[in-house]
Amino acid sequence: MAVQRTLSIIKPDATRRNLTGKIIAKFEDAGLRVVAQKRIRLTKEEAGRFYAVHRERPFYDELCEFMASAPIVVQVLEGEDAIAKNREVMGATDPAEAAEGTIRKEFALSKGENSVHGSDAPETAAEEIRFFFSELEIVG
Ligand code: ATP
Ligand code: MG
Repeated sequence: MAVQRTLSIIKPDATRRNLTGKIIAKFEDAGLRVVAQKRIRLTKEEAGRFYAVHRERPFYDELCEFMASAPIVVQVLEGEDAIAKNREVMGATDPAEAAEGTIRKEFALSKGENSVHGSDAPETAAEEIRFFFSELEIVG
């Protein structure tokens, strides 16, 4: 298994409820390391560019509004098989379907306000990391 990097976002529903530390602890407990991190506030237009792959989906506008509604924490997680491991710790998109012990099972409010984002493949991970971070900001 190779060491990978993946992009993780702690979403507005979680920053609003002061859950940042509890969520990061879940990643660290699973063996993932935070190698870059910042708290930012996206505009709706920036959220739209990040989620451009979902442009045609019915929830796109609602998703962009939500992602711009409060600060987010963007971070690069590093570790063995980090892309899949991150998604395992996150749990299913819909908290009603998420496994026990996952972030979304414990903290997500709904399918839309589901506390975290994680890249889904090596290509999207590289692209999403580049969207938020320069090489100099990633310290492994
Ligand atoms: P993410 O990409 O955020 O890690 P995901 O890969 O589990 O989550 P996607 O299918 O890529 O899920 O959807 C992206 C995001 O869009 C979801 O995390 C959620 O916030 C929102 N979303 C997805 N489906 C719905 C829906 N039916 N209604 C409202 N929001 C949705
Ligand atoms: Mg996704």
